[in-house]
Amino acid sequence: MSIQKIPEKNTVLFVWLNQYAGILLKTPSKTLAIDPVDVKIKNLKGVDAILITHEHYDHLDPRLIIEVQKATNCTIIADKVSSKKLQHAISADKLHETKPGTEIKIGEVLIKAEKCNHNAQAPVTYIITSEDEVKVYHTADSLPLPELAVMGQKEKFDVVFCAVGIASGATPLTGFEIARLTKPQVAVPYHAGSTASQTEFAQILKKELPRTACLIPEQNKIYQVSKRK
Ligand SMILES: [Zn+2]
Repeated sequence: MSIQKIPEKNTVLFVWLNQYAGILLKTPSKTLAIDPVDVKIKNLKGVDAILITHEHYDHLDPRLIIEVQKATNCTIIADKVSSKKLQHAISADKLHETKPGTEIKIGEVLIKAEKCNHNAQAPVTYIITSEDEVKVYHTADSLPLPELAVMGQKEKFDVVFCAVGIASGATPLTGFEIARLTKPQVAVPYHAGSTASQTEFAQILKKELPRTACLIPEQNKIYQVSKRK
């Protein structure tokens, strides 16, 4: 599912690519794919950058990444361990290794790596700020961590993706806790073994955090989020 439409100013479009943390994100100027696996190459043909959060099979498919990079010449941004698995095939000027605190610009879009509370070797999460300051936080498979509260105060997130299943320890409640700490305008439950876990997340959110909207995505559909007023 590629996104043909160009988002309006102060808006981003996104597609949930698989049952895990695969997201295609389009700002008015750039297209980013985060943790694409189980995706056809043709659906990634317009990407400017691919972001990888950690080396687990449901987040990193080295063959796919290498093939897409060759076809598009896109930039690859990856945690240290994933980066090592790609460096034999991707030139150094196109492969950026990240750790918490790293900032990289793709044109006017800013990508900042942050901590991730997940049992991988060197996982990161990514804050993506579009050229018109729409703030998207991709939290990979992360469980809650105290630093999220500080970020929530500082960043004024528009969209936060929250894992609600599959990963060890991830449940609708831990996903909700990520939303509670980061306080976005819109919370999106993903990394979900079933729609029941997404619905449960939505119910907790509605009761405990009524000012945050819940967007339960379907795979391969395009959703739009605008900057908060
Ligand atoms: Zn995962």
